[in-house]
Amino acid sequence: MRSFFRVINSIFFVAAFLAAAFCAYEVYSVVNFPKADYEAQIAEIKSETEETREKTIAARKDFEDEIAYLRENIRNLGDEGVALADRIEELEAQVDTKTERLAKMQKQAELFDDMPDAVETARKEYGLKIRELEEKIQNGETDVRICYWTLDDGPTYITKNFLDALDEMGEHVHVTFFTANQANDSPDEEEMLRREMTSGHSVQNHSYAHVTLASGSVYVSVESFKEQIMLQDEWLYEVTGFHPTIFRFPGGSAWGRDLLPGAVDAIKELGYEWVDWNCNLYDAGATENLPSSGLEITRALTQIPEEPIAMILGHDWNTNTLIAMKSAIPQLMEQGYVFLPLFPESVTMGMIATR
Ligand SMILES: [Zn+2]
Repeated sequence: MRSFFRVINSIFFVAAFLAAAFCAYEVYSVVNFPKADYEAQIAEIKSETEETREKTIAARKDFEDEIAYLRENIRNLGDEGVALADRIEELEAQVDTKTERLAKMQKQAELFDDMPDAVETARKEYGLKIRELEEKIQNGETDVRICYWTLDDGPTYITKNFLDALDEMGEHVHVTFFTANQANDSPDEEEMLRREMTSGHSVQNHSYAHVTLASGSVYVSVESFKEQIMLQDEWLYEVTGFHPTIFRFPGGSAWGRDLLPGAVDAIKELGYEWVDWNCNLYDAGATENLPSSGLEITRALTQIPEEPIAMILGHDWNTNTLIAMKSAIPQLMEQGYVFLPLFPESVTMGMIATR
């Protein structure tokens, strides 16, 4: 009887171990995000190619000079003439090898030129992988939890502090920046956008002018609304080399859809998805434009564990949000949350704010 219990015990032990290992693998397979860190590699391979090209041109010139000299003299010489003829062949073979090497390097350089496309493809595959995990979470097939921490209105003077804090939390903590060109100007905004991108965060579209336009608002007409999205799209592409794919309505979709009934169709026509949130940090300073207190944010953060797929609305111009984020992320990680960048493949697309 005792050995029977021992067998049962071992079976439970092995099952528990396998479940834990599977869970760890699931997390591992999504936190290794394909980063857009190809710029340095492209620069390196290009300079190597250029160096080889210059060396080959110099070698070819040396070869041609020498061959011209040899051809002039070879006919007047006996045995020495034969030796010189051998030398010519040797030099010709050397040039062939170098030409071949150059062609190979040029081909390699072309491959690196295509790298942004390769990163795009990797991102799409990654997005589909996350979607699979999201569906498992929705079906109760895993204990893994996902948190999409979104930060709107940047880049700002303190975006750098947010990025530093995220770096300190490790290379697997990612957030999503919904950026707007004119919401908060800061002198290093383009550098910050590139840093967001190369750190593996998701860089998305929150319109170019944000809410205020000379003519009134982003929601004046379908045409101006589309123009706002495309202006931001072009700016982000110019700065980072990537087109955003997700839009967040300035002020939230309830307001945007109300003011402009054709807004959702317009977004779809531009090939975009859109998303609100299910956890609001109330850090946009509704009261007299002052940043919300840290207490309000802390209170809002208690909503997260109710959501197995949490979508947090925060702003990277609020220092209280920065303070709250620094303490909340490690705590939520202990509760099983992984912090992923947002992709258009996510099941959350079209999520309407409930709070
Ligand atoms: Zn905003």
